[in-house]
Amino acid sequence: MYTNEFDYFRPSHIQEALALLEQHPDAKLLAGGHSLIPTMKLRLAAPSTLIDVSALEGLRGIRLEGNTLILGAMTTHRDLEFSDMLHSHCPILPQQASLIGDPMVRNKGTIGGALAHADPAADYPAAMLALGASLKIESQNGPRVVAAQDFFQGMFATALESGEMLTEIHIPLQGSHMAYAKFAHPASRYAIVGVAAVLDMAGQICSSARLALTGAGPGVMRLGKIEAALEARVLTSELLSSAVQNAVEASELLSDNFASSEYRAHLVGVMAHRALSSAAGIAS
Ligand SMILES: Cc1cc2nc3c(=O)[nH]c(=O)nc-3n(C[C@H](O)[C@H](O)[C@H](O)COP(=O)(O)OP(=O)(O)OC[C@H]3O[C@@H](n4cnc5c(N)ncnc54)[C@H](O)[C@@H]3O)c2cc1C
Repeated sequence: MYTNEFDYFRPSHIQEALALLEQHPDAKLLAGGHSLIPTMKLRLAAPSTLIDVSALEGLRGIRLEGNTLILGAMTTHRDLEFSDMLHSHCPILPQQASLIGDPMVRNKGTIGGALAHADPAADYPAAMLALGASLKIESQNGPRVVAAQDFFQGMFATALESGEMLTEIHIPLQGSHMAYAKFAHPASRYAIVGVAAVLDMAGQICSSARLALTGAGPGVMRLGKIEAALEARVLTSELLSSAVQNAVEASELLSDNFASSEYRAHLVGVMAHRALSSAAGIAS
């Protein structure tokens, strides 16, 4: 399958990329290409212009500023997987990155591309919600910062508007009680059900819990019922088992050839239990 014909630009500075986006409202940014190119080959997208952002200076890398981790949008899955800084300060991201696709996808695919694409089965959106991340978006009108909760707006839908580019992901530091559990599709490795859990612990007591679900529904969502059942409680294996029961209604979830909505609802409980046990250091 071939893509449509398109004009191709490869800017070397962000301002140049933003100017091109403004001049070509139909343009698509090309990052790692691991979602965009297959979509174009299937003719689900046919942009007249591609703006290849792989040569942009300064958009790739991970740094710590005060209490905030800052990830450049062009940071690859592999960069995240092997980052010592993330292993120390935000271990859920290297864990997720290591579970994405195959080595080729991880070498080329970027966190910015994955978040902008907002595939309902992508892994990172769940961690973004559970970590309380914010996303920096730039256009020729200047920058704006959007909370992850407001960025994801359903299946392949985000708060990005025409002329805008995601440039950074900001993550507040918050201990290391965090984990991701995924029931992966056996061929693609995308999440059929993925649960990210981030806990604030005061000794044995859970002072706050943030859980988010990906893959199971039309978009990423918080698991508020489980969060409420854990807050201000001493975490035990028994509490986790009861908290994850009936966490979501099957009617809210997707159903397809791989997994019915009822099966997905069952898996949400299983994956939430695994993520929580791992985050809290409790044998499951
Ligand atoms: C075989 C295979 C298996 C995969 N398995 C998984 C998996 O298990 N879990 C998972 O989460 N993902 C998986 N993916 C998707 C993978 O993570 C992609 O790398 C990712 O979704 C897109 O990143 P990219 O850099 O390739 O973006 P691209 O494909 O280049 O772009 C994707 C979209 O985002 C837009 N975009 C890119 N960068 C920006 C930006 N900075 N600002 C605004 N818009 C932007 C593009 O215009 C395009 O619309 C898989 C992909 C493949 C091919």
